[in-house]
Amino acid sequence: MTLTAPLPAPLTSWLDQAAAGLDTGAVAPGDLLPRLAAADLFRIGAPEGLGGAGGTAADVVEAIAAVSERSLAAGFVFWGHRAFIEYLLQSPNAALRDRLLPDLLDGRIAGATGLSNAMKFLAGLEELQVSARADGDGLRLDGKLPWVTNLRAEGFHVAAAVAGPDGRPFVASVAYDRAGVTRSPDLDLIALRSTSTAALKLDDVAIGADEVIASDALDWCPKVRPAFLGFQIGMSIGLARRALAEAREAAGAGRHALGTELDDAAVRLQAATDALRKGLADAAFVARPADLFRIRIALAEVANDAVGLELQASGGKCYLTGPGEGFARRWREAAFLPVITPSLVQLKAALAAQGAPAGRAA
Ligand SMILES: Cc1cc2nc3c(=O)[nH]c(=O)nc-3n(C[C@H](O)[C@H](O)[C@H](O)COP(=O)(O)OP(=O)(O)OC[C@H]3O[C@@H](n4cnc5c(N)ncnc54)[C@H](O)[C@@H]3O)c2cc1C
Repeated sequence: MTLTAPLPAPLTSWLDQAAAGLDTGAVAPGDLLPRLAAADLFRIGAPEGLGGAGGTAADVVEAIAAVSERSLAAGFVFWGHRAFIEYLLQSPNAALRDRLLPDLLDGRIAGATGLSNAMKFLAGLEELQVSARADGDGLRLDGKLPWVTNLRAEGFHVAAAVAGPDGRPFVASVAYDRAGVTRSPDLDLIALRSTSTAALKLDDVAIGADEVIASDALDWCPKVRPAFLGFQIGMSIGLARRALAEAREAAGAGRHALGTELDDAAVRLQAATDALRKGLADAAFVARPADLFRIRIALAEVANDAVGLELQASGGKCYLTGPGEGFARRWREAAFLPVITPSLVQLKAALAAQGAPAGRAA
């Protein structure tokens, strides 16, 4: 089977042999980030003058998709780390960016995004879970982030949305080794277990103004949302491509009954991927987030349909632990796509509230 592969061969062969262990937790979570960094993936889409490789947001989506074709756990860690890098690239705080970026691009330290809470806050779904009080020239943070991925035990920075002393929300970068930062053990997940996903508690954590990524979260978060969400959609694209390729390969004699459904899923995948690429290039999603929400819904649904088609095309062998291992992993991976923030329920509710149809993206 031919997969889309703008990835170096050592990485693709490692991903192929590690995919099952990244899902079950048999591969040490600390091994993943350095592998992705060694392939220079985190430099994609970052300006050359800052140590990046240049390129566009669509190139980042394509790279996350290529990794996710082989392992959604790896694609998810890629997303979390690259989203944090993007926050720095879009931050007015150049000193923070210059200080943290070299280690992040090299994968020496992990970047994690705790901004689901911020995205739900923007949608009016939940209060901010971290608050700050003034302490001289600095700030003291208290609160919790119940789900964060890429909290690498060896060291991380995490972006968190914080209710400021005056009630106005801002976004801060919090380092793992600050007094008062407590990381839980890895959460006991049903899949994606080597993703260093844990909860974080902040208890009277001191930060300075030089650790503020964006002082006005209400202005900044909608601007960074197209990258946050667009990169995340790369996971759906990759999983859908892989499952459709597996289904096509299995759909031999007697299974051509699935041909129309496979063609329809492929058309929907291509149309929504093209719409994502175009919207990112035009910077259209800041003003029209509903278009991006529809693409997110469409591609998560295509990925779930594609895994269902892989099952139908492959038949009973999917139900055997050995031959069905890849399928069973993709089935569990697909179950994650609707729940990651912004969840499909949340987006459908937002579109319904605007009176906009949730239907096809393109
Ligand atoms: C493996 C894993 C890794 C994760 N990693 C990260 C991470 O790195 N960073 C991060 O910030 N988060 C992360 N999350 C959190 C994730 O993105 C979601 O925020 C979280 O799973 C949803 O929160 P919940 O389960 O508490 O849903 P709830 O808040 O209990 O809501 C249940 C469902 O209803 C929807 N919903 C709730 N209220 C409304 C409403 N009023 N209208 C419409 N819909 C509504 C929600 O979107 C959700 O789909 C991770 C989650 C998982 C499972």
